[in-house]
Amino acid sequence: MSRRRQIYEGKGKVLFEGPEPGTIVQYFKDDASAFNNKKIGTITGKGVLNNRISEYLMTCLGDIGIPTHFVRRLNMREQLVREVEIIPLEVVVRNVAAGSIATRLAIPEGTTLPRSIVEFRYKAKELSNPFVSEEHITAFGWATPHELDEMMQLSLRINDFLSGLFLGVGIRLVDFRIEFGRFYNQNDEMSIILADEISPDSCRLWDSRTSERMDKDRFRQDMDRVAEAYQEVAQRLGILPESGPRDIQAPKLMQ
Ligand code: UDP
Repeated sequence: MSRRRQIYEGKGKVLFEGPEPGTIVQYFKDDASAFNNKKIGTITGKGVLNNRISEYLMTCLGDIGIPTHFVRRLNMREQLVREVEIIPLEVVVRNVAAGSIATRLAIPEGTTLPRSIVEFRYKAKELSNPFVSEEHITAFGWATPHELDEMMQLSLRINDFLSGLFLGVGIRLVDFRIEFGRFYNQNDEMSIILADEISPDSCRLWDSRTSERMDKDRFRQDMDRVAEAYQEVAQRLGILPESGPRDIQAPKLMQ
């Protein structure tokens, strides 16, 4: 790990230069932060689980024709992805009121929204990633109207697919946050592809029967059994490491 050139270190991940040009290695950490880094902690085994969960979800999305940056998982904590130019927006898709929309608009948490709602946040830590409108995005040139349209369409397809996939294992997809990037092929043609990760760090996942939280809200709200909740998500998706949770403490090479 230390021999590679580090490109970026964020809250939950470190990015390294990949083995070939145009590739990046995403290393998933156990570190967690919330409320714009006001709360910081560790969720033991989270990195291993998020690496595997994100691999699984990105692969499923790829199978239905959603272009993603995912190439392959390298080991317990790392995956190889295609290098993209990240669009400086977080796309949030909501099905049920929770978190900031519940507070901002005084909608009781758990209310099913009249339809899926897509919101955008401008990626600027110093401003705490403020919500922005399509007007802001195109006026300030963060994305073109065409790119915005593409991101909206992809986000709604991703939401439909993931909502069904999670429902099948007894989980309600309340909301999630994704990021997109510009990918340039060998002919320098650009396309918008799904980047970053999809995991319980970036989704709200509620047990569909009991509404128990199975995501990072457990960490945000100082609840117990945080790692266990991430593990339960992986277990329900049928992707927990074969030899069980013990693997999680001991990263090892898979290939
Ligand atoms: N989210 C995220 N990173 C952030 C903020 C939010 O991944 O920095 C996710 C969050 O887990 C939830 C969705 O985006 O699934 C919507 O979050 P919301 O706007 O309600 O913000 P929050 O309540 O997390 O501040």
